[in-house]
Amino acid sequence: MGCCHLLVDENREAVLLDTGLVGEPILIRRQMRRLGLAPDAIKAILLTHGHLDHAGNVAWATQWSGAPIYAHPLEQVHIDGTFPYVGINRWCGRLEKAGRLVLGTGQPASISHSLTDDELLPFWGGLRVVHLPGHTLGHCGFYSPRHDLLFSGDLFASYFFKVHLPPAILNTAPGLIPASLARARELNPRYLVPQHYDVLDGELHRQRFDRLLLRLAARRTRARVL
Ligand SMILES: [Zn+2]
Ligand SMILES: [Zn+2]
Repeated sequence: MGCCHLLVDENREAVLLDTGLVGEPILIRRQMRRLGLAPDAIKAILLTHGHLDHAGNVAWATQWSGAPIYAHPLEQVHIDGTFPYVGINRWCGRLEKAGRLVLGTGQPASISHSLTDDELLPFWGGLRVVHLPGHTLGHCGFYSPRHDLLFSGDLFASYFFKVHLPPAILNTAPGLIPASLARARELNPRYLVPQHYDVLDGELHRQRFDRLLLRLAARRTRARVL
């Protein structure tokens, strides 16, 4: 239901990229057991942003593994559930509040390491922080130069039936999204892995992303003509 990736390097050190919403603790524990890894093999918990479907289990994850939480400082209010949503974005706050109540997730947790744009993190052979604001103000992607792969968070979602930007109600600063899309395009990674997708195929998501950008550009041109 939520979103989560477990990245393991050749030294059997792992990082958790987002922590999911409800069922993930069971899946994470099972996968770690399968790999023969103890919880303390997780060296860091990286958050693309603080929405509940990404950070809902972060308190559990940090307690279970002892790993520090890496996120952009502007995401702490999302983790706390205290972000002052305005306008149509208020619906996002309402959904999150309901989610916290019904699912019992979203326990308090503090960011241990504040991410800054372009910072190189010593995980998975090196991960560069790419600040991609718009969906939330502190929304970040993580780029692996070694794999030429960008984990793009909620910059876009990639499904067979629909490749799309996050719904308007979920975006805090939509005016910043075009520049973030352009930044991901300029980075030009061979592989793109968003946090909401149907199949794990970075090449396919990259192709879909390019098609999405073309579609958005065509829509802008049409709007200018009309
Ligand atoms: Zn989100
Ligand atoms: Zn999401």
